[in-house]
Amino acid sequence: TNRTFTMIKPEAVAAGNTGKILDMIIEAGFKIKALKLTTLSKERAGEFYEVHKERPFYGELVDYMSSGPVVAAILEKDNAVADFRALIGATDPAEAADGTIRKAFAKSKAENAVHGSDSDENAEIEGKFHFAANEIV
Ligand code: ATP
Repeated sequence: TNRTFTMIKPEAVAAGNTGKILDMIIEAGFKIKALKLTTLSKERAGEFYEVHKERPFYGELVDYMSSGPVVAAILEKDNAVADFRALIGATDPAEAADGTIRKAFAKSKAENAVHGSDSDENAEIEGKFHFAANEIV
């Protein structure tokens, strides 16, 4: 499909980088189809990242993602999932290319500014996790 899902993560929202990150997303040709500032309880963060349950950083990830407000959005563009992952850059900011969101704003491998869905299927699931039908334009 032509949609992906993103979250601007707590440290980037707290640092006041929401507007700059949304600017980069829009400049790259994505259209915002849904947008909200929200918080994730530990339970909701745990559910969102359930696929990582067996990974050693799962507890840290759930604590981090529930530590403060996040900005969730559904984005539309041709080839949205792959193009958005290219725009955000590598998970570890030390490896992220120049011009990527993580190169500009990520602080570490954990506090890496943004999430981007890794498949069309997950984009759909993650979008529905955060947005009701009447919140999507
Ligand atoms: P995302 O799914 O958030 O877009 P990603 O696909 O680049 O990120 P994953 O390997 O799926 O990276 O990891 C999911 C998230 O878990 C990362 O974005 C990061 O916040 C956190 N994470 C990944 N590796 C580590 C690690 N070694 N230590 C701490 N946190 C990590």
